[in-house]
Amino acid sequence: MCLICDRIDMIKKGCNPYFVRELETGYVVIGDHQHFSGYTLFLYKHHGEITEIFHLEPYERTKFMEEMAMVAEAVSRAFGAEKMNYELLGMGDAHLHWHLFPRREGDILPYGHHGKGPVWWYPMEKMYADGNRPDEATLSEMKQRLSAELDRLIPPQSCEVK
Ligand SMILES: [Zn+2]
Repeated sequence: MCLICDRIDMIKKGCNPYFVRELETGYVVIGDHQHFSGYTLFLYKHHGEITEIFHLEPYERTKFMEEMAMVAEAVSRAFGAEKMNYELLGMGDAHLHWHLFPRREGDILPYGHHGKGPVWWYPMEKMYADGNRPDEATLSEMKQRLSAELDRLIPPQSCEVK
């Protein structure tokens, strides 16, 4: 099983502390490391043979992209990004998942071109340092803030019988 499938399995069992919200095509989770404060991931629900956006059927592809954009907007509002960065990589874990980074002036200093450049110009060992893991209280507050913004953009579906 891949790392992303493992995390989704934890969500389904109710034991993933980073889980924020389930949408139609994926799951919203707070990133394990928070050098880029508000770093969030949007995990596509299925794996199997689907490892590229172009493998998705047209409806699913559009929905996945639309939901990712809404998650990015919610992240930007919740955590005050100057600019959002979007990455869909997957040479390690081919399971489709978006990395959504809120960026702020000087956040990779002293690296890059005078502190400007992509997130991966910041050294990996610093980005993934244990000190960047949110403590329980911080994680809980982050989830509440993001959840509130998501609810505003994508109201949760009600199960009420009319
Ligand atoms: Zn997977």
